[in-house]
Formats: sequence, C-alpha cells, structure tokens
Amino acid sequence: MYDLECQSLTKRFGAYHAVNNVSFDVPRGSFFSILGPSGCGKTTLMRMIAGFENPTSGDIRIKGASVIGTPPNKRSVKMVFQHLALFPMMNVGENIAYGLRCQKENKTDIARKVKSVLERIGLPGVAEKQVSQLSGGQRQRIAIARCMVLEPDVLLLDEPLGALDLKLRERMKVELKLLQSQFNTTFLYITHDQSEALIMSDNVAVMNAGQFEQIGAPQELYNNPKSGFVAGFVGDTNRWPGRISAVNGGEARVALEGGHEVVAKLGDPGLREGAKVEIFVRPETISLTPSLGANRLRGRVDSLLFNGANSRLLVRTGGDELVEVAQGVMDKTLAVRQGDEVELSWRNEHCLAFAVAG
Ligand code: ATP
Repeated sequence: MYDLECQSLTKRFGAYHAVNNVSFDVPRGSFFSILGPSGCGKTTLMRMIAGFENPTSGDIRIKGASVIGTPPNKRSVKMVFQHLALFPMMNVGENIAYGLRCQKENKTDIARKVKSVLERIGLPGVAEKQVSQLSGGQRQRIAIARCMVLEPDVLLLDEPLGALDLKLRERMKVELKLLQSQFNTTFLYITHDQSEALIMSDNVAVMNAGQFEQIGAPQELYNNPKSGFVAGFVGDTNRWPGRISAVNGGEARVALEGGHEVVAKLGDPGLREGAKVEIFVRPETISLTPSLGANRLRGRVDSLLFNGANSRLLVRTGGDELVEVAQGVMDKTLAVRQGDEVELSWRNEHCLAFAVAG
C-alpha cells in the first residue's frame, strides 16, 4: 500500500522543465528522501505534492486518490519548513493547537491531543513555554508536533535541519528517524546532504536537473550506483578521468589521464573501446596491503588528514592522481608518515567506470 504515488509529474516554468516526468511511490509508514543539488527541482516537486504549485502534467495520489485540483488545506499532507514558521507570539501549546482550532475541534479534544503529542515527542510540560525559550532541537520537534497533531497521511520536510549547527544536525538526524518510526507516518524529506538521506531513509531518490537518476535503499545507491552522477553524489569517492583501452565482458581496461592503467567494472553496459570515462573508487575500498586485487598504484603519502573514524590519507601517484584512502583501523595508517612510498590496491569490482559526455 502506498501513501503517496507520483506519476509522470512535470512542472515547466515557461520552457524550463524544473521537474521533468518524475514517477515514484512511497510505501505507507516509510521514510523517503529526495536527494539532489541546489536547483535540481526538489522544492518544486514538494510544493506540487503540498498543493502550493500546480503540475504542468502528471498525477499525485494520496492513499490512492488523486489530489490534483485539491487545495493544500484539504490534502492530508503537512509540511515542515527549514525555518519552521512557528508563531513567536504564541506559546508552544497554542502553536500546536493552532491547526486543530482552525478545524474547529472542541477545547477538550484540543487539550488532550496537544498533551498527547508533546508526550510522544518527549517534551511533556513545555506547553506554557514561549517558543523563544526552547533550544534549536526542541523547536524542531515542536514544528513536527504541530503537523503530527493533525494526523496527516504524509509529512513533507523541506531541509528542516539546514539552519542548525553541525553538532545539533548530527543529533537531529537520529531523532528525526526515531520520531518517524514512532509515529509510523510517511515522511517525505528533501535535502542536498547525502549523509542525512543515507542515515534516515528507507528509500532515497537521487535527483538531478529535474529528473530522478535512481531510486533505492541507501545501501543500494551506495554500493550499486547506476550513473556517474549517483556514484559521485552519494558518499565519498575518488574520481579520475580516463579512456577505455579494452573491454572484456563486464570489465574494461582504462588508461587514466595520468598514465596509469586500471581495471574497472562497467557502470554503463554500452561502453566501448575508446570511450571517455570517469573512474570511481571509494576511499574505504583501497588498501595499503598489495594483495587486494589487480589494481595497484604506487605513490607517496602527500598528507594525513586525521578525523577520528573518518581519517584519510592523501596519496600522490607518479601519474599525478591524488588518491584518497580511508583506513577504518587507524593504527594501520598511524604507521604511515608523510612522504612514505606506499602501494595501493583495490578489487576490480570496487572500481566503476561511467561515461562522460564529449
Ligand atoms: P534548493 O535546494 O536550492 O532549494 P531545489 O532543488 O529545491 O533547490 P527548486 O527550488 O525546485 O530547486 O528550483 C528548480 C529550478 O526551478 C530552479 O532553476 C529555479 O530557479 C526554478 N524555479 C523554481 N520556482 C520557479 C518559479 N516560480 N518561476 C521560475 N522558475 C522557478
């Protein structure tokens, strides 16, 4: 069963396709993210689902029924904005009660529902506080509570963590995920931050220039990207330009511009000898142990970037590629110093080739 279905959804502004023939389904009670760079059409897509923007063509169904032509306040959809849009002149309880009052619910029911939703978000007893007395994280939760008290079928979240500082954003990723599973409501979340999408979502659609490049579970997108755009946008990766010198089954020999040759899995099955490609290798698949695969590059350690569990080595090869290497077990890299000669290796299947235009 799907809470939200979008079919061939298109929005044109004049001749410009902000959203171009997008189709996707969101299963009931799941966390679905739309991930893409600034300007790719995420907000326009969400505004069409909320009813603030009419599609040029296509259909939007909530719980199986088309909502095309239905005004925003008659859709079972609520939206949390980046700047939350809480009313500063009202206390927390009044903020949460606002939508219920607009629906003309009786006072006893409103009081019961406000109390209940505050308990569910873990903030009992803040009803009388002013919004200005709350922390950033508490305000986030109140903005969600204000929507959830209206029991929407779908909650839309438009980069709600964008205005928070880094530390709070990290914490709120986990809290949002927990809140979503606790309410068991369908969340549609838009973001340009791949780590937010990967951590919170059941499924992610990667959007580029008005279209969806790939829809999948976070692990699927990370491990099996279907385009160079997805390989480059989801997760950290090394990427080097090159040209295919030979194709053998699903693999190709690729001459890197720097002069080295690597063996790569063909990301695009149609790639042929002579094609210009980009090579993608994730830093954590590269080892300093030479036995790991056919792909080997010698180089010199350019820098050690210490960042706890996300520490990196930057290795400059003779061909002038700069290779980023992650070593999960930091004690391995601690033995390596700037200027050391190292041999890098990785398995063929961890090296993907995608076509580049031109
Ligand atoms: P961001 O993350 O920066 O908010 P986005 O992915 O949400 O970007 P949109 O805001 O949906 O992107 O915009 C997509 C494209 O459509 C942009 O090029 C934008 O300039 C254009 N656009 C959006 N709204 C309008 C409008 N009302 N009239 C004309 N062009 C518009």
